[in-house]
Amino acid sequence: MNTIIAEAIALDEKDELASFREQFHLPVQKSGEPYIYFCGNSLGLQPKTARRYVEEVMKDWELMGVEAHTEARNPWMPYHEILTDQLADLVGAKPHEVVAMNSLTVNLHLMMVSFYRPEKDRFKIIIEKGAFPSDRYAVESQIKFHGYDPDKALIELEPRESESTLRTVDILDTINQHGSSTALIMMGNVNYYTGQAFNMKEITRVGHNNGCKVAFDLAHGAGNIVCDLHDVGADFAAWCSYKYLNAGPGATSGCFVHERHSEDDSLPRFAGWWGHDKSDRFKMGPEFKVLPGAEGWQLSNPPILPMACLKASLDIFEAAGGIKSLRRKSENMTQFLLSLLQPLVGGRIEVITPLELDERGCQISIRVKSGDRKIYEKLTAGGLIADWREPDVIRIAPAPLYNSYEDIARFVELLKLAMF
Ligand SMILES: *Cc1c(COP(=O)(O)O)cnc(C)c1O
Repeated sequence: MNTIIAEAIALDEKDELASFREQFHLPVQKSGEPYIYFCGNSLGLQPKTARRYVEEVMKDWELMGVEAHTEARNPWMPYHEILTDQLADLVGAKPHEVVAMNSLTVNLHLMMVSFYRPEKDRFKIIIEKGAFPSDRYAVESQIKFHGYDPDKALIELEPRESESTLRTVDILDTINQHGSSTALIMMGNVNYYTGQAFNMKEITRVGHNNGCKVAFDLAHGAGNIVCDLHDVGADFAAWCSYKYLNAGPGATSGCFVHERHSEDDSLPRFAGWWGHDKSDRFKMGPEFKVLPGAEGWQLSNPPILPMACLKASLDIFEAAGGIKSLRRKSENMTQFLLSLLQPLVGGRIEVITPLELDERGCQISIRVKSGDRKIYEKLTAGGLIADWREPDVIRIAPAPLYNSYEDIARFVELLKLAMF
């Protein structure tokens, strides 16, 4: 056997988390072999338990109808509450700082209603250039909604010439430069394209020193890196649950509001009945009495079926020892991947993701020189599921819950064949 593959198999045998792979459905090729699935940054795989969790809800609905709101095994009325502790653990928050609700872009907007309050002398939003398009559309539309001009109000952090990622000093310089006129800093904590993880703590500290609100989109961070949101001190954060969280397409998003805002009922917000005081919600009175904490931003009664998938997924994260345990494996996996890529770098490919562990999660973005898509097409023909991002990047995201070291070695073997 090829020595790299043998080495990888030996690493899998020593890996205490290896058995979690069996808890997921891996897409299978025509040959019967599973694909090498490195696309958890786009859609995580289905936990085998998810179907049972969903069927339980269907059964409760079948047997009880409306009574299931209070009588189901997990009653629907407080269903989102069974997710709270696990979500808090996942992102390093206190339970009353998190809630599962809506979808990601919706939550970004709801949060900006409360935390982007532009005034004449303080109206800018700082984001990273090359942020995920939905985030950019969201901030730009908020700026316009408040009657400001995005050309003046949107400040984009850009890498230096001929560099692919941002330097922390440059981010902080920009914040200091625009700080007094900036209302909100909102960044991905891991950039979806380059895989770069930002120094949330420093960005938040310097942002707050300048009187700005600071927020992070954890779409590529939740379930991938250790976020420590409470200690970081960000004002709000939101994330989707269908990428590293494996909760299925369109899964219910997560949202964080720091506890310093939890009792502040002077904050403007868009309200709905699920954000109203639980004890008298069903008195159906006309006067809105807001719940403390992140729950106070809920609008609608929660979608139980997608939340059942999220519960299935969060139970697996917990069984695997939580995000810190998974992150340790993830670090080892990417070190292994990078060591195998090292001899290939320089000719037709380069790695644009920062190499330092605290500057990235599990995603390694490989730039193909001259945007030669043929390499990617050969990889997919050979059994890889990953993605190609225009103009020239292949994103490879080994997920510690279901990817193996052998997947990584097989991928690198495929890459060698595709390149030469
Ligand atoms: C995946 C992703 C989204 C997707 O937004 P939805 O509202 O879930 O469709 C938004 N922002 C970032 C940074 C993402 O990575």
